Amino acid sequence: MSEQSYKLDDIVAWVDLSTYCNAACPQCHRTDNNGLGKIGWLPLVQWSIEDFKNAFSIEDMQSIKRFEICGTWGDPFMAKDIYHILKYIIDNSNARIQINTNGGMRDDEFWWDVGLLSRGRMQVIFDVEGITPEMHGMYRRKVDLEKLKSHIQCYTSAGGDALAHVIVFKHNEDYLYEILDMCYNELGMNFHVIQASNRFHKDGREEFTDEDGNLHVLEEVTNKGHELINRTITPDRDHNWFKKHGKKHLDRGLWTPKDAVDASK
Ligand code: SF4
Repeated sequence: MSEQSYKLDDIVAWVDLSTYCNAACPQCHRTDNNGLGKIGWLPLVQWSIEDFKNAFSIEDMQSIKRFEICGTWGDPFMAKDIYHILKYIIDNSNARIQINTNGGMRDDEFWWDVGLLSRGRMQVIFDVEGITPEMHGMYRRKVDLEKLKSHIQCYTSAGGDALAHVIVFKHNEDYLYEILDMCYNELGMNFHVIQASNRFHKDGREEFTDEDGNLHVLEEVTNKGHELINRTITPDRDHNWFKKHGKKHLDRGLWTPKDAVDASK
């Protein structure tokens, strides 16, 4: 076995902090699409600030360029100590933070505080998939659009850098410009990523049963060549994109509109 060497200041730490979630997205790994509860075998766990400090000492964090705090099995903002974890990183390192959320949990004051904390060091990636509660809730189930909008407004008003992550299905594909207009002009967000859902197994249809036993069908986007979908970059944690485009965006740490222009060339 040959020895692998790493350039320490290139390290990106990808951390999952929680398997808790307030939402019930039918194509999520944690969701049982028969009733929209959590899948039975997944334990409910979360990291406390003590767990995080044990895993990442102040010394360790000096080698980390960026934390990517995603939500493969749950939403990181459901971790009870998330504010303290983010503050610990910001106060004790130079690392930047990208963190994903459905944004529907907690209250306006919390999101204002995260916005104040984030300036210049953190980008929150909010899922926004509709201009009406019905459209947004068709996939992002149990997330109230008006509450989400209020949280984003509080966060951006406090100076927070917010990216809109839009997953596209048949039910929202004709409203992408309206969604972006709302994100940029009403909510103060400053960048977006638009992706067609790639989690359909067959026939571009997926049936699920909601918590009341009602049957629903999600349908795949019909126009995969939509100009907004085609022009949009994929986050660099997608390793296929990463191989194709290289590592230049890691140098800056956070996505900006310039990245979209660079990536489309
Ligand atoms: S918000 Fe994220 S973690 Fe929660 S159910 Fe939806 S996809 Fe899964």
